[in-house]
Amino acid sequence: MKLQPTIGLEIHVQLSTATKMFCRCSVGEAAPNTHCCPTCLGLPGTLPVPNKGALMLATQAANLLGCVIGITSVAERKSYSYPDLPKGYQISQFSSPFAEKGVWKFHVGVEEREVRIRRIQIEEDTAQMRVEKEGCRLDFNRSGIPLLEIVTEPDFTESKEVGAFLRTIRASLVDSGLTDGKMEAGSLRCEPNISWSFPDKSGTKVEIKNLGSIRGVERAINWELAYQKETLDGGGKVEPVTKGWDEKSGRCILQRRKETASDYRYFPEPDLPPLAPCIDELQEENRVHTPFQRGEKLLAMGVAEGFSWMLSLDLKLFQYWEEVVTLGGDPLQSAKWVAGPLVGAWREAGLMPPGNCPNPRDLATLLGLVEKGTISKTVAKGLIPSMITGANPVTMVEEGGLAGGVEDLERLALLAIEENPDAAQKFQSGKEGAIRAVLGTGMRLSRGKADPQALLEAIRIILKA
Ligand code: ADP
Ligand code: MG
Ligand code: ZN
Repeated sequence: MKLQPTIGLEIHVQLSTATKMFCRCSVGEAAPNTHCCPTCLGLPGTLPVPNKGALMLATQAANLLGCVIGITSVAERKSYSYPDLPKGYQISQFSSPFAEKGVWKFHVGVEEREVRIRRIQIEEDTAQMRVEKEGCRLDFNRSGIPLLEIVTEPDFTESKEVGAFLRTIRASLVDSGLTDGKMEAGSLRCEPNISWSFPDKSGTKVEIKNLGSIRGVERAINWELAYQKETLDGGGKVEPVTKGWDEKSGRCILQRRKETASDYRYFPEPDLPPLAPCIDELQEENRVHTPFQRGEKLLAMGVAEGFSWMLSLDLKLFQYWEEVVTLGGDPLQSAKWVAGPLVGAWREAGLMPPGNCPNPRDLATLLGLVEKGTISKTVAKGLIPSMITGANPVTMVEEGGLAGGVEDLERLALLAIEENPDAAQKFQSGKEGAIRAVLGTGMRLSRGKADPQALLEAIRIILKA
């Protein structure tokens, strides 16, 4: 048996509620320390009141992740002392989480993967702390924002698997309106736990904090795995510590020794009733489709892996593609054109995610024109920028005289062969490359309008006949 990379994640998600978890202070951009009250400042004698909206979102999240929801999950106090937590404990969950035993399916390339979700718990966020030269600054606007902590089983074996997991789960949570999912702004945070373990015997794990992007998570995992490997190969021991990722130097830096559950003295929060799920949110139809399900459909239709990944991650793009296909667009070509030229043009025009233009019908029409050979791909690509501001492809082709129909293609091929008798002969006697000269002439004669691939095919057919 061999040691293998073993990774489990702890993910914190700020829920998109209007107000905080246990008080009615607003959530959202504001000048520091303007959204706070005695409860979220942690003053003695205040009483927490659970936010129904947060419980609704948590229920939806648990559903999305296929978890079993505890009917009487309990809020508990997690005691520790830190400047961002003046009341000395965080309301969290321990012995009986909000939901548990879920599973998340996703694709890595064309491969299907499955990672088990160990538990989902509800917590309150702490104040935000910034360390500066003259001291540290605290902003209590963040204190008390509802958080969901999603804990996975240590089922990952490589960083790109973690990246795909995070990208798909973030897409789903954002699509369902549960969070804004902005990692750089801290509304989604991920702490990977990393070890080299035997399948049946856990190695010592290191936890990494302070990650501001999914790319950063992947890099930190690669760095830490290599570091532990080197330590172990050199006969050393991995210490159970918490490290921070330093983006600038591209390495993990020791922060502190790891706490254990007994350090926190969890006990039930006496001021709160059980954090019950919202039964109304539990209906099956509330399960939105996930990137995995979208990817399954795309891949089953034969869409190439890269395009499929792009379309499956973005609900709006996927729905756009689906509509083009419903309107007669070829699934593969539509995926290619949406994920390629269209996304390019939308980005260029600052119009992401897709608006109403081009109308999916117009894109289907454009693809039809290409398929019939009425216009070349090059011409079609040239029409895209106008189409995203509403121009109609048929009108543009007619008014611009852009059509070079199928019969024309054959005529063009014949003309090109006539002008290149030597090259044509060479091709016929087995010198494949000679066809390039004929194609070049054909393209020149069409003043660049012909589709090179289609013209090449036409020349080949004539010469082989
Ligand atoms: P702790 O009690 O130290 O917090 P847990 O067992 O609660 O540890 O797990 C916390 C996180 O660490 C989970 O995401 C879990 O998947 C991950 N984890 C557990 N064992 C390992 C391991 N051997 N290697 C990497 N990650 C692990
Ligand atoms: Mg933990
Ligand atoms: Zn408050």
